Amino acid sequence: NDLASLMNVSVNQVISACMSMGMFVSINQRLDAETITIIADEFGYEVEFYKAEDEMQQAEIVEDSEEDLVPRAPIVTIMGHVDHGKTSLLDYIRKTRVTEGEAGGITQHIGAYEVETDTGKKITFLDTPGHEAFTAMRARGAKATDVVIVVVAADDSVMPQTKEAINHAQVAGVPIIIAINKVDKPTANPDRIREQLAGINILVEEWGGKYQSEEVSAKSGQGISELLEKVLLEAELLDLKANPDKPAVGTILEASLDKGRGYLATMLVQGGTLRIGDVLLAGSHYGRVKAMYDHRGGRMKEAGPSVPVQVLGLDGAPQAGDIAKVYESDREARDIATRREQILREQSVRTRKHITLDEIGRRL
Ligand code: GDP
Ligand code: MG
Repeated sequence: NDLASLMNVSVNQVISACMSMGMFVSINQRLDAETITIIADEFGYEVEFYKAEDEMQQAEIVEDSEEDLVPRAPIVTIMGHVDHGKTSLLDYIRKTRVTEGEAGGITQHIGAYEVETDTGKKITFLDTPGHEAFTAMRARGAKATDVVIVVVAADDSVMPQTKEAINHAQVAGVPIIIAINKVDKPTANPDRIREQLAGINILVEEWGGKYQSEEVSAKSGQGISELLEKVLLEAELLDLKANPDKPAVGTILEASLDKGRGYLATMLVQGGTLRIGDVLLAGSHYGRVKAMYDHRGGRMKEAGPSVPVQVLGLDGAPQAGDIAKVYESDREARDIATRREQILREQSVRTRKHITLDEIGRRL
């Protein structure tokens, strides 16, 4: 029926076209991609398919006018080879740079946190380190990183995952800052790292290149203030701005089910401001924002651009990388959520393997 009306022909014509291919179909039957292509061709149409993921990421891009834009904090992802100190660096920064919450501080891992530098500027760190999370998000169309810090252990070497991390950042067009870590160790040899980096075309500033780098220790904290200042410098060059005065739009970083409270999703707000009571749609889930929390578990009333916030109120758990967006009406959000749910369901039916009677017989 849908295909017929898209092509401006009668349903019967489509049904008999199917019949001539040996398929007996009903009016509401959903056809597979191949069948649709063949039939459309018969009627002189060419078919273009788009994936459910594309549909999931469709958020109308509203161009903000220049005068509505205000500076926002940079969003940073830390990448690098295993054991080179990504988690340690994130932990050190979190422990030393997060301003005290009124809740008095059991830190929650919500997927991201905000810190303040010595100069009082803010930086948002995504705390799922590693290039897998980064590429997975990118693959889903999410652009939730402004700067990548690539960690290299000074007592080790530039390793395969170091190169991979650099490569991923370059492909995504995201600026890189090198953190040469573990310089507290007696066996540390930062010069060797700089040399190896030069060997893969990453020439650091000290050596006349364009890449900022800093010698740091996630253990003693050496160099970390300087590293953060370099992030800010990079951010300044990027001239990061957003419009806080519109309904919020952003990216889901993670989601989970809390037995007591319900579904909790961390949203990184990237434009607009999210408020309690807003109707939020993320992937195929929606709901009114009942409560918002920061990474210290403290309650929030609103969250603007570059602020990560844990949201209570969605009717399910969206996926990391899903776009989250506030809608005017409950009904609109619900309709879109239902349609996406249907697309996802159909997609999973299509990819499920058909089991033959013979196979069932063999299983018994
Ligand atoms: P990841 O795999 O990149 O997340 O690395 P981790 O943060 O888990 O660190 C791997 C190991 O290196 C751990 O045993 C850390 O304690 C240690 N480590 C990380 N950073 C430093 C550092 O700056 N100095 C020293 N001495 N050890 C470090
Ligand atoms: Mg780790």
